[in-house]
Amino acid sequence: MVFARDAEEALMTAAALVNTLGEDGDTLVTESDLDDFLARWPFTGSRTHDAAEVAAVRALRPVLRRLWTSGDADVVAAGANALLAEARALPQLVRHDGWDWHLHATAPDAPLATRMGVEAAMALADVVRGGELDRLRVCAGEDCQDVVIDLSRNRSRRYCDSGCGNRANVAAYRARRAAS
Ligand SMILES: [Zn+2]
Ligand SMILES: [Zn+2]
Repeated sequence: MVFARDAEEALMTAAALVNTLGEDGDTLVTESDLDDFLARWPFTGSRTHDAAEVAAVRALRPVLRRLWTSGDADVVAAGANALLAEARALPQLVRHDGWDWHLHATAPDAPLATRMGVEAAMALADVVRGGELDRLRVCAGEDCQDVVIDLSRNRSRRYCDSGCGNRANVAAYRARRAAS
């Protein structure tokens, strides 16, 4: 494990959120899209199930992408600090629903987008503190701008989960065969 489990989960969630807006379009548009996203990436706490909630979550994506792709610890630190300050985050150790001790920094009744932003910011704080910024990547696949969190021990992850690695392997194989 590179980071604490809750931080790793938060980074994977943040990447998935950013990647709902990609080259293939936007998969987080409606309230039911948000329900689908949260079924895969669960958050405890209150929901309002309205258009404003969806809009606030959507608005988080460019903020997180900018931090993710900046490659600059100062930028990530300032961005994480801003998200934490705006939410008046207050880190607390909690244990619930079968999850052992982990950090929450927002109240359960804080708006969903606030909780998502703070959770991402707390995890980005771990990345910055650990000097692990190079684990925040963009997929190396051609024409793919999906963000990737590299949690591998040997820092080997280059591709997103959408098949870019396979496509690159096939292309390399064809190129080798054409050359021989
Ligand atoms: Zn929790
Ligand atoms: Zn990709």
